[in-house]
Amino acid sequence: MICKRVNNILEVIVMEIRKVYLDHSATTPVAKEVVDAMLPYFTEKMGNPNSLHSWGRDARGAVDEARSSVASLIGAEPSEIVFTGCGSEADNLAIKGALWAKKDGKKHIITSAVEHHAIVDSFKWLGKNGYDVTILPVDSDCVVTPDSLKAALRDDTALVSVMYANNEVGTINPIAELGAICRERGILFHTDAVQAAGHVPIDVTKLPVDMLTMAAHKMYGPKGIGALYIRRGLKLVPLIHGGGQEYGIRSGTENTPYIIGFGAAARLAQKLHEAGEESRVSLIRDKLLDGIIARVPDSFVTGHRTQRLPYHGSVCVKWIEGEGMLLRLDYAGIGASSGSACTSGSLEPSHVLLAMGLDHATAHGSLRLTLGKDTSEEDIDYVLKEFPPIVETLRKMSPYKGK
Ligand SMILES: *Cc1c(COP(=O)(O)O)cnc(C)c1O
Repeated sequence: MICKRVNNILEVIVMEIRKVYLDHSATTPVAKEVVDAMLPYFTEKMGNPNSLHSWGRDARGAVDEARSSVASLIGAEPSEIVFTGCGSEADNLAIKGALWAKKDGKKHIITSAVEHHAIVDSFKWLGKNGYDVTILPVDSDCVVTPDSLKAALRDDTALVSVMYANNEVGTINPIAELGAICRERGILFHTDAVQAAGHVPIDVTKLPVDMLTMAAHKMYGPKGIGALYIRRGLKLVPLIHGGGQEYGIRSGTENTPYIIGFGAAARLAQKLHEAGEESRVSLIRDKLLDGIIARVPDSFVTGHRTQRLPYHGSVCVKWIEGEGMLLRLDYAGIGASSGSACTSGSLEPSHVLLAMGLDHATAHGSLRLTLGKDTSEEDIDYVLKEFPPIVETLRKMSPYKGK
């Protein structure tokens, strides 16, 4: 009886706290239509796409359709899309696969200082295994400038990888210009577009990139499925040898339900784009950022103010720790992040914010608020009501307040 009363009270409390998920850069929920598309492929349509019977043929047809959907999201041909186990795998496959396939002896490779760890650590490993690595700086808005790329190129440069948009501060790079510089000189160019694909229009028929990485779980698809666009004619050495699936570039029985989910997510992204989602979400994102700056003293936006992902907001709040903000926001039902999911939990501030020239103490006060298709203006109003008093409380406790 008492237990029941307590449960009821808890339920009321839980019900009354508004839940606002603002961590879409870490992962997105899987959209209902995506789940619906996937479900039959676990059970009655479970065939192996490589089998010759009707179950296999059905699965093959669905995989082909999903490949077309993912391809058309970025203007590619279906045969230029290879499905992988995640975005990180696609990044590894692009960099290592393309370099290992090269026979010209060129060993100089270039990336930027603000990449995702899938790229950072691949380059580190290559640096210890016979390659010469140059890391490009970024400006204070986190932009990789064409001039810095030009200055870094050498006669033996084999490959350049620069991310389309940054996951921590949302800045979009001038990929068309960077790619053109490489193409002019016959240097391979890869871009990690995991944060951008499905959220900003991408057209590889016009964009001079040779390889481009995507991941379903950053665009309302399931976790554990990625894709690499590989321009027609470009040869890669596989990371996974075996049965020769995915044009021989990524062996292993196709993860049919997840591939179907990725296809459905790509179609949803195009629908959202046509419905004007980018301008809707960027408008309330700007309301959030402007509201924080106006209400929280000594706070500022990180990343480029306009050349940024429409759903992405990030700020630094001086004199306090990101972790403290996250915990108190979580009590208030608001899910945010500080730095990237991989860096938070360690004491080192994010490599991205340091590369942008922020000092350690300021970088520790970073907060990332990334919106999604289901984020409403009321959600933003709620955050703007809850957040300023949290900062005030934390600053009262902070050892370095009031400088
Ligand atoms: C999330 C992310 C990845 C990694 O994708 P996974 O599917 O989680 O491996 C790579 N690059 C960027 C920019 C990302 O945001």
